Amino acid sequence: MSVTIADIHAAVEHWAPSGTAQSYDNVGLQIGRSNKSVSKALIALDLTPQVVNEAIETRADLVLTHHPLIFKPLSHLTDTSLVSSMALTLAEHGIALYAAHTNLDAARDGVSFELARILGLSNVEFLGGLKGSVVKLVVFVPTSHIDDVQNAIHAAGGGQIGTYSSCSFSHGGTGQFKPTPSSSPFLGHAAGDLEKVSEVRLEVEVARWQLPRVLSAMIDAHPYEEVAHDIIPVETEFKNAGIGAIGQLSTPTTLGAFLDRVCSVLDNPALRYVGDPSKSIQKVAVCGGSGSDFIQLAQKNDADVYITADVTYHRFFDVLDQEGMPDMALIDAGHYETEKMTEDLLVRWLSTQFPSVQWVKTNSRTSPVKTWTASDV
Ligand SMILES: [Zn+2]
Repeated sequence: MSVTIADIHAAVEHWAPSGTAQSYDNVGLQIGRSNKSVSKALIALDLTPQVVNEAIETRADLVLTHHPLIFKPLSHLTDTSLVSSMALTLAEHGIALYAAHTNLDAARDGVSFELARILGLSNVEFLGGLKGSVVKLVVFVPTSHIDDVQNAIHAAGGGQIGTYSSCSFSHGGTGQFKPTPSSSPFLGHAAGDLEKVSEVRLEVEVARWQLPRVLSAMIDAHPYEEVAHDIIPVETEFKNAGIGAIGQLSTPTTLGAFLDRVCSVLDNPALRYVGDPSKSIQKVAVCGGSGSDFIQLAQKNDADVYITADVTYHRFFDVLDQEGMPDMALIDAGHYETEKMTEDLLVRWLSTQFPSVQWVKTNSRTSPVKTWTASDV
């Protein structure tokens, strides 16, 4: 049976829901039709003219990138800018384009977990949670319909906590209502008497991005004309998505030795860092790509060192104590370098999900940035 882009999208959504992407992001299918069948796909961190040519030459049906090509609406689909020209070329050749970006950053076993894995960390967990990612849905259901409503909510994705599904709490009581003349009540009749009903208060945690789907399923399954329900913001965070990753090296090592390891594993000859190379480290926080907003989060989690990218000059001062000494080491290991293993991750994961599709990693280095190493300085 042929695999379509819709099938690939459904699988990616299960692992890295687009609802977990940052609000500025633009993830998912960017070019193409979702019913297109895919027998060969090219994986790349970024879309570049070299990747476009490679896709054409190797007859790929789809290019799947981490960084989206289209962030802002395009005003033209012409060959006048790099972005629109590449979009046009892909469309002309019938090649689809799909992006899994900050949703993959936020996924368990996504970008940062993979960075942690290749750096040799164990006991890896999220560095932080996604704030405001969960709401508590409370609905009052007549006892006769509790199974229908509960099942509908769970089938729509409500009640997932970590590795458990169908989680909910219910408690019985008595509900009451008085139908007005314009009502069409489940019990009694319009302009009728006060009705008292045996009801259940059903409580379910719902990921915020699944709320519209869950509410619609709940209302469809509920017998009342007006479904009494509350949507309550909670401090609880969705367990299967988060920020960055943190783990342990199996044995303590010096920061200097670890910097060497980072250079070698990430194939980056030059790193910018703050820290004492002779200091012993074991607890390591990571965030692939631009993660300087999470420096304090790494400090709060007692990381000995935090590795990310795009750290500006003044941000390096954030890890210095009152005497100007670093209380956590901070490494800027490069945006491309801390994310390029995402290509291998995607090839591996998608090959398991869709073995009949040929998943190929690009043979080009998609970063335009190079490091100049002076020979005589
Ligand atoms: Zn990135």
